[in-house]
Amino acid sequence: KELLLLMAEHTSDPAHASRLSHLASAAGKQAYSDYIQRDGRGLTELLQEFRSCKPPFGAVLELVTKLTPRYYTISSSSAKDATTLHLTVKVVREPMRNAEGRTKVGVCSTQLEALPASTGRAAVFVRPSAFRLPADPTKPVIMVGPGTGIAPFRAFLQELQTRAARGAGHSGHTRLYFGCRHSRRDFLYQDELAAAKADGSLSELRVAFSRETERKVYVQHLMRDDGAQLWKLVHGEGGYVYICGGTSMGREVVGAIQAMAVEHGKMSDGAAADYIKVLTAEGRLVQELWS
Ligand SMILES: Cc1cc2nc3c(=O)[nH]c(=O)nc-3n(C[C@H](O)[C@H](O)[C@H](O)COP(=O)(O)OP(=O)(O)OC[C@H]3O[C@@H](n4cnc5c(N)ncnc54)[C@H](O)[C@@H]3O)c2cc1C
Repeated sequence: KELLLLMAEHTSDPAHASRLSHLASAAGKQAYSDYIQRDGRGLTELLQEFRSCKPPFGAVLELVTKLTPRYYTISSSSAKDATTLHLTVKVVREPMRNAEGRTKVGVCSTQLEALPASTGRAAVFVRPSAFRLPADPTKPVIMVGPGTGIAPFRAFLQELQTRAARGAGHSGHTRLYFGCRHSRRDFLYQDELAAAKADGSLSELRVAFSRETERKVYVQHLMRDDGAQLWKLVHGEGGYVYICGGTSMGREVVGAIQAMAVEHGKMSDGAAADYIKVLTAEGRLVQELWS
């Protein structure tokens, strides 16, 4: 609201000044909520709409909030190629929720999309990831990554393939649960996954297509179907479960594991909830989720 007042102060058109002041006032609370918050209007768009407004650059800089960094999970393995790093990014450009006719344009993902392939530059920093393959190569690895959540598991598979090529392969079962809407439209890395399955670095590939059947099928449904088998891998063989992607998916998947503990481990609800805590504390349930 301070920005709106600053803009109002530096506007030559009285109608613009009045509208901007109203948006920043207590009386304009509803207008602010609709026009700014619901419709997702930022500074750039306001300056384009209120063309008579020329606030001093320094004053604007003092008021704008710092852009927060966006995190992306690295989707390639340095074991395979130490000089190139891959990201798997969903470009956010879609109809805005609750704001008819407006488009939500993601700040960072669209900038990444627009980067020229060979000459583009981006400011980045690297944060260590919690995703690490188990030190013991005999342990089962259960990966759950629908959509762009597949990113770390593509890196895992590259690492497993590289290890196998060096004669130090992973002997434990490896399984990926991937999900997307349509098999022909957004099945990411389909060829690479098929190759990993063929060369044995991926023992089992389970894919949920959510828009191809009347009932929407998601990864958690496949996991529930595979309950007995998964329970044996996780509980019986000390397997590791890695989950990456949307927060609500993560919640459902953890719920599916908890349900397995009840159904196949014959645990009470409370004991199953504790079991999840133990898995997490032991580093055998690792999640990287975002909204
Ligand atoms: C640890 C971590 C790892 C991640 N890894 C990846 C990854 O590998 N790949 C990947 O693609 N992303 C990943 N993300 C998400 C990523 O960091 C960004 O949040 C995402 O790319 C959107 O950023 P943006 O700047 O393009 O969009 P922003 O401008 O930040 O817009 C996104 C915001 O808009 C909201 N929004 C989204 N759609 C709509 C809509 N239709 N209407 C209204 N509001 C909407 C969202 O709720 C969100 O708050 C990860 C996030 C975290 C925390």
